[in-house]
Amino acid sequence: MTIIEPFRIKSVEPILFTTREQRAAILEKAFYNAFLIKADDVIIDLLTDSGTSAMSSAQWAGIMIGDESYAGSNSFFRFESAVQEMTGMPIVIPTHQGRASEKILFSIIGGKGKYIVSNTLFDTTRANIEVSGAEGVDLLCPEGKLPQVPAPFKGNMDVEALEKFIQEKGAEHIPLCMITVTNNSGGGQPVSMQNIRDVKKVCTQYGIPLFIDACRFAENSYFIKLREKEFANVSVPAIARELFSYADGCTMSAKKDAFANIGGFIALRDEALALKCRNLLIITDGFPTYGGLAGRDLEAIAIGLHEVMDEHYLQYRIRSIEYLTEKLIAEGVPVMQPAGGHAVYIDAKAFLPHIPSDQYPGQALVGALYLEGGIRGVEIGSLMFGKYDDAGQLIPSMMELVRLAIPRRVYTQSHIDYVAEVIIKVFKERHQIKGLAITYEAPTLRHFTARLKEIS
Ligand SMILES: *Cc1c(COP(=O)(O)O)cnc(C)c1O
Repeated sequence: MTIIEPFRIKSVEPILFTTREQRAAILEKAFYNAFLIKADDVIIDLLTDSGTSAMSSAQWAGIMIGDESYAGSNSFFRFESAVQEMTGMPIVIPTHQGRASEKILFSIIGGKGKYIVSNTLFDTTRANIEVSGAEGVDLLCPEGKLPQVPAPFKGNMDVEALEKFIQEKGAEHIPLCMITVTNNSGGGQPVSMQNIRDVKKVCTQYGIPLFIDACRFAENSYFIKLREKEFANVSVPAIARELFSYADGCTMSAKKDAFANIGGFIALRDEALALKCRNLLIITDGFPTYGGLAGRDLEAIAIGLHEVMDEHYLQYRIRSIEYLTEKLIAEGVPVMQPAGGHAVYIDAKAFLPHIPSDQYPGQALVGALYLEGGIRGVEIGSLMFGKYDDAGQLIPSMMELVRLAIPRRVYTQSHIDYVAEVIIKVFKERHQIKGLAITYEAPTLRHFTARLKEIS
């Protein structure tokens, strides 16, 4: 049976169309950087699944009952209960988005000479760690590094490497271990419950707190249900509760699995750490019962956190990513396998073998997809993660990927069919795609503002 969208559409937004000629001019004017293209000039926007979800009628109703009191707002208490129920953690601190949570957390526990270990840190997480003076270390399992080799839990942390790293650097220099679920930068691949248990065991042995980057906790929980036998008959909320039970805290961007357009939080068990976080929050985001958000946002998040754990939704969600992935595999397009939870990741290194890493094959492919079909994706490769050695040579990223993130509840199956057709056409004509050179870059998170030009 066809798995249908588990919703009806009550309100629509028009898509504006452009011609290929118009898009060629737009791309050049945007310096071949998709972040610099106007949204109106995009036909299908797969830049991110962050803050782009369609809210439900219940969430919009929640917006109307948002309590905008500066302190002690009713909406805060509903938000707090929703997060407590989902995580089992007693302390809930709202923030304006995920990176605000990270900024607060790592300003307190980061600093020079320290290491934050992870399966894979997301780019804003890594940047906040590095800005504090600490170093972020990714210890992803070996199968997670092979884009085209399927495995059920490619987001797992390499537990052996973790223990070795702790022994090498000393637990006193590692204030935190953070597991990202699902692993956004590594293909939206899930982490197994067993892996979280194993990591927790090592962390406990060495007295290192374990945190979860919980942006896609529901998608990860559903993968656990599908792929880890023990959980086949366990409800998603119960899986999520167990997952969080191993953690000392978590950060979350509500722009992902809470279906909200803005928001985030830190949830904790340690009151002493919470006190420091709240003090920083007051100078950066706002009073601890709103954290830089409007009361109505807190309301929308509280409702969204409940909705996202619905298994009809999660089945449709996971299946729609898999559907696009399967169509591409059938035509030989190199994609990360198996499908992740929120996005399709094209292996740009394999797609464009004639373009070397220092000519940014991922970014070149992003440009080609926009030109062909007005589809906007994002490079997750050497433009995002590349660094320079002392001689100014690029140290390329481990992988060159293009992420096509699917906004939640936004596009229908025919939109996805169109995306597949465009990618397949670009794949057939891939030999014509040219590499890119950077003409301007910022010192951190350069991919957001970089300017590039085609190498002729
Ligand atoms: C989006 C994201 C963040 C940062 O959240 P923002 O709301 O964009 O600041 C952190 N970690 C992961 C895994 C993410 O996907």
